[in-house]
Amino acid sequence: MIDVTNLKKKFDELTVLESIDFSVKKGEVVCLIGPSGSGKTTLLRCLNLLEVPNGGSITIGNKTLTFDNAPPSKKDTIALRSFSGMVFQGFHLFPHKTVMENIIEAPLVVKKRKKVELMKEGDVLLKKVGMFEHRDKYPDSLSGGQQQRAAIARALMMNPEVMLFDEPTSALDPQLVKEVLRVIEELAKEGQTMVIVTHEMNFARRVADKVLFMDEGFIVEEGTASEVLENPKEQRTKEFLQLLD
Ligand code: ADP
Repeated sequence: MIDVTNLKKKFDELTVLESIDFSVKKGEVVCLIGPSGSGKTTLLRCLNLLEVPNGGSITIGNKTLTFDNAPPSKKDTIALRSFSGMVFQGFHLFPHKTVMENIIEAPLVVKKRKKVELMKEGDVLLKKVGMFEHRDKYPDSLSGGQQQRAAIARALMMNPEVMLFDEPTSALDPQLVKEVLRVIEELAKEGQTMVIVTHEMNFARRVADKVLFMDEGFIVEEGTASEVLENPKEQRTKEFLQLLD
C-alpha cells in the first residue's frame, strides 16, 4: 500500500530526513514515535506532499513518485494526494462552515459530486465518529475532541486508501483524548490502513501492527508494538522510552 525508499528532506541547510525506508501493507496500522524534532511530522507531510522530498521515492496505491531529479508535476501531486486523508494536530476546520458543510466540501469541489448524495454519506460517517447530532453546528461551538472527530470524518469522506494522523490528540485537554483515540481504534478494527504520529504509547500498544522509532532523520528501529515498546534493541529507543516513564 505504501512503499517509501531512501526518502530525503532538507529545509535549506537543515537535513531533517536523512534516508527513510519503510512500507505499510493494506490494513496495517503503523505508529511513528520518536523525540521531538526527529522528523516525524515532516515524514508524514512528505507522504501527501505537503512537503516535497528532495530525494528517494514514495509509492501509495498504484502511484509511484521519484524525487531524485525534479519536484513532481501538479498532476502527479494531485494523484498521489488522492490516496491519503490527513488529520492534523489543530483540526483545521473551516470556521464559517457547519460540520456537515466542512465534511462535504472537498468531494463537492474536487470531485464535483452531488450535494444530496454527499450529505447521505456524511450522515453515515458522522454517526460513525459520534458527531451526527452536531452536524449543523459551527466549529467554534464544539469542543476540541468534537472538532477532531469532525476532521476525521472529513478526511474519510474522500475514501482515502490511507489515513495519516499527525499527533491527533496533542492539542486536546486530557479528558477529550480518549473519545478521539476510540474513533481511531474503531477505524483500525475495520481494517483502515493508517500511519499515526503519536506520543500516546498505550494507544500505540493497542492499535499498532508496526511501530517505527525515528531519531535524527532515520528510522532507528521497527517491529511490532511489543518488540519496539517492551523489548527495544537499540540504545536510542531504550533512552527515549525511559524518558517517558
Ligand atoms: P517531529 O515531528 O519529530 O517533532 P518535525 O518533522 O516537526 O519533527 O521537525 C523536524 C525538524 O525540522 C525540526 O528541527 C524543525 O524545526 C524542522 N522543520 C520542520 N518544518 C520546517 C520548515 N517548514 N522549515 C524549516 N524547518 C522545519
